[in-house]
Amino acid sequence: MPHRIALLGDPVAHSLSPRLHNTAFSAAGLDWEYVPCRVAPEHLAETVAQMHAQGFVGANVTIPHKEAVAEHMDALTERAEAVGAVNTICVEAGDDGAVRLVGDNTDIAGFLAPLRELREEAPALESLLRGCEMVVFGAGGAARAVVYAALTALAPSRLTLAARTPKRAKALAKAMQRFDDDGVLEVVALDDAAERVRSAALVVNATPLGMHAPGEAGGDASPWPHPDDFHPGQIAYDLVYAPATTRFLRDAASRGATPIGGMPMLIGQAAASFERWTGAAWPLAADAMPD
Ligand code: NAP
Repeated sequence: MPHRIALLGDPVAHSLSPRLHNTAFSAAGLDWEYVPCRVAPEHLAETVAQMHAQGFVGANVTIPHKEAVAEHMDALTERAEAVGAVNTICVEAGDDGAVRLVGDNTDIAGFLAPLRELREEAPALESLLRGCEMVVFGAGGAARAVVYAALTALAPSRLTLAARTPKRAKALAKAMQRFDDDGVLEVVALDDAAERVRSAALVVNATPLGMHAPGEAGGDASPWPHPDDFHPGQIAYDLVYAPATTRFLRDAASRGATPIGGMPMLIGQAAASFERWTGAAWPLAADAMPD
């Protein structure tokens, strides 16, 4: 019987994770299986409670359960607790031998993965990130992981949250205050972000804007549709991974900024979850989905 990992979400049919993880298990020579499980919100508690009995040794958690599942864990890692969301569950034996569920968040490692790659590929760009100015568009779950990652790993000199709903961004900033030793976090309305975008070394789209292919409803949107505010020496990082190239990335690249799409983050979080469950190194490329 293979070790089994569940994907808990609703819906799950569209998810790329089963293909990614099952390819990785094979490539690593592991008899493991990644199983999508569609779970309605009202069945989340019982599904999580039965995970171990059903033969699962871990899980990923996706929309809409990332926040709600935290209360069903026996323990949370510090980062999952800080971000307020769990995307990875590990079934572990506690000190007393009893099985416990530990909730973790690997979106943080996923976000940092392509920035760390820059260290090898473009050291000059990577050095820009130390103590850099940063802008994050959006104030949802992904933005929380980005802000936590930035405050704990990048030490920005200023981190501006530009959000459609400033109240939500202010709540995020308040929740992250304990990691903001130097008081670098600020909130601005979307319309007031121009100066901050121009002076930032790293600009991140953590909204779903741009998620659809051009021509589809809602497609080709950008949180910052002002190409002239981008320039060489900047990094534009879009968390959206489908399509691979968004208007935000195209606009930034057209003015010489370095674009990073959402696929390396998706793979980076998968790799961190995989390594947490199996103890083995991620065996696939860092930036491309397997066929
Ligand atoms: P979320 O919790 O729903 O938050 C979305 C944020 O975007 C909110 O602040 C929302 O503002 C804002 N927003 C939505 N529509 C907007 C619009 N038309 N104009 C301006 N702001 C808008 O979603 P999430 O979980 O943070 O995910 C955000 C994006 O990141 C998604 O596209 C998701 O696929 C992507 N993501 C990618 C990865 C990866 O591995 N690459 C990982 C996680 C997430 P309001 O508060 O005003 O609604």
